[in-house]
Amino acid sequence: MSVDPVHSPLLDHSPAELARELRAQGIRRFCFTTTTEGEVAASHPSLATIAQALQADGVDFDRHEGLFFEVSAIEDLIHGAFVHRSRRGQGQGGTRFWSYRRFGDMLNDGVRLSKGMTHKNALAGIWWGGGKGVITRPERGDIKDPALRRALFNEYGRFISSLRGCYITAEDVGTNTVDMGHIADETRFITCIPKARGGSGNPSSATALGVVRGLEAAFAYQSGAREGEGAPDAAQLQGKHVVVQGAGHVGEVIITLLLEAGARVTATDINAERVKAVEERLQGRFGAERVQVVLTEPGDLSPLSWTCDALCPAAMGAVLNPETISSLQSTIVCGAANNQLQDPARDGETLRTKGVLYMPDFLVNRMGIVNCANEQYGYVGDDPSQDSSYSRHLGYDWPQSVYQTSLRVLARAEADGAHPHAAAVALAEELSLELHPIWGHRGAAIIEGLSRGDWSRS
Ligand code: NAD
Repeated sequence: MSVDPVHSPLLDHSPAELARELRAQGIRRFCFTTTTEGEVAASHPSLATIAQALQADGVDFDRHEGLFFEVSAIEDLIHGAFVHRSRRGQGQGGTRFWSYRRFGDMLNDGVRLSKGMTHKNALAGIWWGGGKGVITRPERGDIKDPALRRALFNEYGRFISSLRGCYITAEDVGTNTVDMGHIADETRFITCIPKARGGSGNPSSATALGVVRGLEAAFAYQSGAREGEGAPDAAQLQGKHVVVQGAGHVGEVIITLLLEAGARVTATDINAERVKAVEERLQGRFGAERVQVVLTEPGDLSPLSWTCDALCPAAMGAVLNPETISSLQSTIVCGAANNQLQDPARDGETLRTKGVLYMPDFLVNRMGIVNCANEQYGYVGDDPSQDSSYSRHLGYDWPQSVYQTSLRVLARAEADGAHPHAAAVALAEELSLELHPIWGHRGAAIIEGLSRGDWSRS
């Protein structure tokens, strides 16, 4: 779960410190790639201890095909692109713009998210591999300054172009559609670009719809529904109380959909402006007795122990650990946040023994990526092609829909005496090894080409 077992002092540097140190060493680009023998190679001898730390990580690094980084010339920050497995297609996943105390924390987040994308894309049946982008936030610059954002995301776009398409980016936490436009100014290896430029735009509403389908599957499963039975009782969310952590792009739409289905919602957010705006919008429509949005402190995990019928984490990951699980008061956890389990094996099992139905995040939050899956071939909206048909994924009958896949995963978990996360990973691992029907293992070929061309010195 951590890239720290072999200690590399470089992992303890803040991203800004590392940026300054590498600049002093004359290093602009650096990478770590996994050889066919499973050895992790560093682009520069001075970074060998990081390669050793990655190699020693038995869980999340999981033979990532390539980790690529560039030191920004604008601010003391590091651009990153992570490619986990590209057998089904080039590594695809959004770019996160976030603050990390240590460079090691950035690496941990990147490899976990990238591996999660391998599983998400495979389980959704999409012809993409797993990848993720991470940009560390500057310590000094004002990240709300439009000119700075344009410069940084343009720079990130040039970095992505340099990778020649082994990683295709998209939107994630801390980025928005305008930022995607700035990246798209400098690269064609991007999805979720603004609709005005022919792209699919913001994926959040699609993601929220999928999460609600997953929640419906969980309630239906609790009431005895099984795979292949079709739509659940249309009134099953009526009167249910759901706690939603995070009222951001996805969270607000989830809350709205739940309220429209007759549920009662208590939501939280750490951003006071957001709390006020979302509460005003939703109370104006549904009334204060049906919805409340509560301001919480960043480290406050107490909302996870509020009494409710279902808990929906829709902010950041790793919120489920032995402590938070022991105080959970709901029997369903189903949310949008990526990587909700701090330690998947340990926490998945703890949830199972406590009798909590945990819906794996990468199973239910797939719709954002489904929405942009075929964007590079032209954006169709409700795509008629089998793998990315929006309405099929969100319907109740198609075997690969969020709803039916959720019921399948829950049944497989029960049959195997496993927890749903393990069952979903087992299914996704099998699918992620399939080769793209036309392009084969193209991502690996691109990465090999980058190494031959000495990308890190370009
Ligand atoms: P966002 O940045 O728009 O919203 C996140 C919200 O959570 C923000 O309003 C933030 O203030 C709040 N927040 C942060 N920490 C919090 C805490 N401790 N308690 C309560 N609120 C907190 O991001 P988003 O696009 O809505 O994504 C939410 C989650 O869903 C993320 O984990 C993201 O990776 C995941 N996800 C998003 C998409 C998508 O389509 N946007 C797709 C798949 C997964």
